[in-house]
Formats: sequence, C-alpha cells, structure tokens
Amino acid sequence: MAKTGNIQISSENMMPIIKKWLYSDKDIFLREIVSNASDAITKHKKLAELGETAAEEKYRITVTTDEKAKTLTVEDNGIGMTEEEVEKYITQIAFSGAADFVEKYEKAGGDGIIGHFGLGFYSAYMVSENIEIFTKSYREDAPAVHWSSDGESTYTIEECEKEGRGTKVVMHLAPEEKEFSKEFEIRRLLNKYCSFMPYEIYLDPKGTEEDKPVNTTLPLYLKQPKDCTEEEYKTFYRETFRDYQEPLFWIHLNMDYPFNLKGILYFPKVKKQVELERGQVKLYCNQVYIADNIKEVIPEFLMLLNGVLDCPDIPLNVSRSFLQNDKQVQKIAAHITKKVADKLSELFRNDRARYESCWQDLANFVKFGCIKDDKFYDRVKDIIIYKNLAGEYRPVESFYGDEIGEEESKEGKEPRAVYYVSDPNTQAQYVKMFRDAGLDAILCDTFIDPHFISYLEYKNPKRVRFLRIDADVDGALKEESAEDGELVGIFTSALDGKKVTVKTEKLKDSGVAAVVNVAEFMRRMSEMNSFYRMSEDEEEGVTLVVNTASPAVQALKTAEGETRRAAAMQIYYLALLAYRRLKPEELEEFSRTQSDMIEKYLQK
Ligand code: ADP
Repeated sequence: MAKTGNIQISSENMMPIIKKWLYSDKDIFLREIVSNASDAITKHKKLAELGETAAEEKYRITVTTDEKAKTLTVEDNGIGMTEEEVEKYITQIAFSGAADFVEKYEKAGGDGIIGHFGLGFYSAYMVSENIEIFTKSYREDAPAVHWSSDGESTYTIEECEKEGRGTKVVMHLAPEEKEFSKEFEIRRLLNKYCSFMPYEIYLDPKGTEEDKPVNTTLPLYLKQPKDCTEEEYKTFYRETFRDYQEPLFWIHLNMDYPFNLKGILYFPKVKKQVELERGQVKLYCNQVYIADNIKEVIPEFLMLLNGVLDCPDIPLNVSRSFLQNDKQVQKIAAHITKKVADKLSELFRNDRARYESCWQDLANFVKFGCIKDDKFYDRVKDIIIYKNLAGEYRPVESFYGDEIGEEESKEGKEPRAVYYVSDPNTQAQYVKMFRDAGLDAILCDTFIDPHFISYLEYKNPKRVRFLRIDADVDGALKEESAEDGELVGIFTSALDGKKVTVKTEKLKDSGVAAVVNVAEFMRRMSEMNSFYRMSEDEEEGVTLVVNTASPAVQALKTAEGETRRAAAMQIYYLALLAYRRLKPEELEEFSRTQSDMIEKYLQK
C-alpha cells in the first residue's frame, strides 16, 4: 500500500524564488543530483572498507536521457536508502534544506551563494514537474522503495521491486525544460560540472565495450607533481581550456596542511597586447565544479591565468560578501600568490634566457599583479625587467639610484631620473641624441606601463622618478647652459599666440636646431585628462629648447623681418615634428611658411 504524506514546509514560496534566482544557471541541478550519487558511492565504499558490507567491483553512475518520455535519469550503485531514510533525508532534509537556503539567501540580500550549495536534491524541481526515486539500501533486509512527488505539496512512498543496490532518480521534465532530455545537452553539462568526479559516469551507455565514461576520475592535479610528465600537463591544459597554444609554464599546487589545496595554474601565451586578457580559473570542491573566476576567492590578477583549483576548505555555503572577509580564504589566496611569485623567481634565477623569452607574455600579468597586490610586488620587485636602448633586458631596480636621505632632499637633491621611451619610432630623434651622448633609457611600450611606472615611483619615492625621453634635456646632453636673450626674444615673438616657453641650451649635437620638451608631470596630467575625456587635448608645459650650438640657429640672428620670423617658425615645427604629429592647423601653417621660403630661396 502506498503511503501519502504532506510536505510540511511551505514550499509554495520557495519555488518562485529558487526559479527566479537560478534562472540563468538552473543547469546546476545536474551537478547536485550527480554529486549525491557520487556521495552515496563514497559512503558505500567506506562501509566496505570497514568490513560492514561486501565491496563492489565496479562503482558507476549512469545518466540516461529519453527525449520521447521527456525524462532524465541518474542512477548509482551506492549505499541506497531504506524507507525511513527516504522519509528523513529526502522528504524532510532535502525540503527543509531548501527552505533554509531560501531564508539565508533572502537574508544575504540575494547576492548569490557560491556554488549554490545547500540546495541539493530539491534543485531538480527547477526543471522537473515530478520526480521519482527508486532506491534499495545496502541493508539486505530492507525492501526497495519508490518515492514520488511534484515537489510542491504531496508525495507518495511505497515498497517496490528494484534490481541491485543503489538509487535511481527519474526526473520528469517540465515541458519548457525538455532540452534536458537531449543527450548532447546533458553531455555538455556533464563535461562542465562533472569532468573530474571520482567515479565513472556513463551517459546513455549501450552496454557494449565501446561505452566510455565521460569523466576523468583521477584528474592530473590530484597526482603528485613528481609523477606528472610535461606531456601530461600540456594535454590536461589543452583538454581543459580548449587552448591549442601551448602554455608557457605551470605551477602545480599540492598542499594538505594547514589547508587542503590542489590545482594547476597555467601561464598562457598572450594573444594581443592591447588589453589584459581574461583567463579562466575554474574552482572545484572535491572534484565537483563550482564556478569560474570567483573574485572573492581568487586574487583578481590571477584570473589572467588559466587554471583549476580544488579547495574543499573554502566555505562555499556562505554569501559572497562574507567569503571576502574569511580568514581561511585570505590565507589560501595569499598562498597561491606566494607560489606564483616563487615560480617566477625560480625561473628568473635558474633559466634567465627562458625567463626573458617569456617576459613579453608575462609582463602584463606581473605588472598588473603588483598594482593590485603590494605583497606580490614585494616578492617580485627584483625580477621585473625592462629592455634598455641596447635591447638588453635588465632588472628595473638596476636603473634606480641610491636612496636619497633627509638632508639631501632638503638640499633639493632629487631621486635618480630614469628616462623611458614609449614609442621608439616617434621618439627617434631623442633616442639618437641619447645614444650619441652615451645615455641609456628603458623601453616602456605596453599599455600598462604608464600606470606601472607611477606605481614604481610611489613604491620607491626616494630612489627613482621616470621621465619620458622627451621630457627635458638631460645634463649629459648639453655642454653648459648658454642663455641667449636675443634668441629667446626672436623665438618668443615668432611663436606669439602659442603656449610654448622658449629657452636656450648649448647641446653637444650641433645638428639639431631645437627640441621640444614636455614636462613629465604636465604630460601625464593631460594624458589622464584625455583618457577620462575631461578636456580637449590642450598641451601644457611645452618648452622649445633652442640649440645655440646649431649653425642654423646662429644664422637666424643675421636674418631680418619676415624671413627671420618664418625661419624661426620652421625650426619650431621641425622640433615639434620630432615630438609628435602636427595638428591640421599646424600642418597648414607649416606648409605655407615652407613654400614661401622655398619660393624666396629659388628667386634669389
Ligand atoms: P545534501 O546532499 O546537501 O546533503 P540533498 O538534499 O541533496 O542534500 O540530499 C539529502 C540527503 O538525501 C543526502 O544527504 C543523502 O543522505 C540522501 N540522498 C540524496 N541522494 C542520494 C542517493 N543518490 N543515494 C543515497 N542517498 C541519497
């Protein structure tokens, strides 16, 4: 005789919340049901190990789809349940668990609970209008049981016939959820959530030799690093991330104490330089997939990597905001950060050539990591490298000066100026002057460098300041200062109406008539403003440095009137051209003066 009963908890208000909340993510129900099957097998295995029951030769989970009947079935040969257990664990616990969950979820302000844990069996009602359970306990005297419910209010339970021990859950899908009875859809979900589960999972097996499990029961990350080959790491990468470019290198995390953390982090090759490319860090809990890139658990910069992390110690049943402040989670994140820094340092020290050849791909990651995490910076600061003008990589610290003391700074001494080139093509003239004078500079040509050098200055305020190579005329480029009031007057009046300061210097290179400098601070400000679109790109802090050593400049003094003005303009524009592209109105004026001069020259 079938017993019927009322589900005690008011589930009418549960469904709408759960359905709404999980709307985009309802496919996690499959993970929950398969996890339950896996847990049931683990329990049986334990009992067998304790000698309380006979061991099973082959544990397995079978998932069956039936498009016609619109059902999805998950069957295991685990511990099974007696009638009392079904009443207790399914009717009471599963449903009250869901009620608790909803209450907690609402209290947490609905911010999404990681892994959507705590929902368990009940989550299958997101896609089913009715669920049946057929189960037979490992206890030999207990008859098999059939339970069935629409999940809303009533259930029936009765004895039944069932071959073999274990549990079979038959989900009768709601009409709008019939996609879950399609084999390819279920295969996709099993791949996503169950790839690394510890027992073999078969999807729609034919009962032939060709049946293959859809999962890997011992994923590479669980093995001891010493037992893994390079080829295995690469294959695991390819299969897990579907990236057919080989990773640069990887870090195998394998830790039992003080917390349990297993995983592999891969450094991918960077595809383009213009932005930070997001990686994929998959989080698992006891071989069950939880989610990708959970920022509360994994430091943000590590999400540029690809990796799998399995960490059963992370409390996944709490709200995300709580997780952010959890001590354990912070320790885990700090440990991962340390491991990454150690790996990079090891490579730098043991295989410098390889490190340098990977640096292009690593640089953004390392720089971004420093900006995001001071502790990471402290660990890697001496392995950050830059190319100098000779094209050799050197640690950026080797360019810094000694720390200037209190006294020195009172006397006006400034931290060492390190010049940098942001674009070797447009800054070619300055680069040449630097080379000729035996000065060095570093190449800062990635999009993150402007932020990163500011960060380095902020971390080393008494040792370094960075100046773009066109920011000023370094002492080593000039003979001595050579103030020439007459020349300043000539240029100032020629450039009337332009926001340019004029000064004179005697440069070593007499072939350059003048150079344009833009004060570093001003340039950074206007770059920032134009980045935030706060102002038109009005240039501030522009100085024209006129070279008194240049014969052209000296000749200017003998010229008169309009000719003199026009020649001064040409010198200014030539200097400006070596600094940047001309704006339309500048180009117009430049060409007009130029052709006037050619005309006069030819008519002479
Ligand atoms: P949880 O798995 O979080 O405990 P569930 O609602 O998913 O919550 O399941 C409630 C309980 O029902 C489980 O703890 C387990 O005792 C029992 N159960 C569920 N599925 C199975 C199964 N396939 N075999 C045996 N017992 C099961």
